[in-house]
Amino acid sequence: MSHAIATTTPELPRGIVRVMLRKQLQVMRSTLLAEITNQAHAGDQPMLRRFAQVESALRRMNEGTFGRCVECGGPIALERLQTSPDATWDGVCEAHGGHVQADR
Ligand SMILES: [Zn+2]
Repeated sequence: MSHAIATTTPELPRGIVRVMLRKQLQVMRSTLLAEITNQAHAGDQPMLRRFAQVESALRRMNEGTFGRCVECGGPIALERLQTSPDATWDGVCEAHGGHVQADR
């Protein structure tokens, strides 16, 4: 998807990316929280799962383990985190079935 700009785009320092991702996660968290406390979505399992995932990403950020695969401990690609900051697995583990989300 971003193959054309990969070599010319200067890489953002990880610290800045982290701040951006944290902000993104906090926005996701409050959006989801509003959704799951809305009667129309009461008991919406995929949404609750997503919320739990965002919560755990924020927790891992505080613990300093954010950006690592919960399965193998390997690093999750920055590019991947930028598209889904709540990613729990690296590409390899997700491909092996770690990913059980129903939303795609
Ligand atoms: Zn992994």
